[in-house]
Amino acid sequence: MTHNTLGKRRALVSAASQGLGLATAKALAAAGMDLVICARGEERLLAAAAGLRSEYGVKVHPVVIDLAKTGAPGQLAAEAERLLGGVDVLINNVGGPSPTAAALTSEAEWQKGFEQVFLSSTLLTTALLPAMRKQGFGRIVTITSISVLEPIENLVVSTAMRLAVTGFTKTLANEVAKDGITVNTVLPGIIHTQRIEDLRRAKAARDGTTLSEEMARSEAQIPMRRMGRPEELAALVAFLASDAASYITGVHIPVDGGLRRGF
Ligand code: NAD
Repeated sequence: MTHNTLGKRRALVSAASQGLGLATAKALAAAGMDLVICARGEERLLAAAAGLRSEYGVKVHPVVIDLAKTGAPGQLAAEAERLLGGVDVLINNVGGPSPTAAALTSEAEWQKGFEQVFLSSTLLTTALLPAMRKQGFGRIVTITSISVLEPIENLVVSTAMRLAVTGFTKTLANEVAKDGITVNTVLPGIIHTQRIEDLRRAKAARDGTTLSEEMARSEAQIPMRRMGRPEELAALVAFLASDAASYITGVHIPVDGGLRRGF
């Protein structure tokens, strides 16, 4: 039996106090899952947990943690298994690295990106795998970026680390498919969140433009002529996390309004 005593699936969603993580937590809660959510900042995380509980009537356990810190992914995995009595669904998400150019990225920036983006999701995943294998069920969905298909200017740490994450997830998908565990990634294009505004604000400062000019420029690049809404990405994550997505593994699916022009 892989559900809790009420027959509910149990999910851990990392970096879920706002943006794509929170939208995903909402979609899983709407599907009736009990949750552990984490983020660094306590106030916003507790508010997110309270909102999820009152809106969806599921159990929500907030854990304040910085996933980039040594030992944090293993600690979070153990805490989630304790709080929920087991984890059926893992959604890997984390804050994105600061923008830098490929030629100008320092060793410290590479190291930080490696710990924040690569190690956090990889170690969280491997910590939860033994119990998922034992129960013969698991859904692992990692939020990466459209940059794994087409690099985004000035986001080299994010791009390189997410490609490494993609290599890890694809290899793992093949290893654990026979154990009832699926492993997939979802690639946001430009989904309107705080991070998107922060990146556009930084670009406006670099290029001497304004935030609204940069937002409009981004929208003009997208065939749908608008940014995505977090819930539009979360809908796919929730499907991949569901029992229904039982024969889909090792895939990398963009949610980008047509932004990536290639096949
Ligand atoms: P966001 O900045 O709005 O939210 C980030 C969340 O991560 C927050 O809840 C924050 O508390 C949490 N967080 C950050 N660092 C953390 C850490 N070290 N430990 C624990 N929690 C941490 O970002 P978002 O737009 O929701 O993006 C989520 C992820 O998706 C990021 O990695 C981002 O780079 C990536 N992404 C987003 C888009 C997009 O269009 N929004 C596109 C491509 C990739």
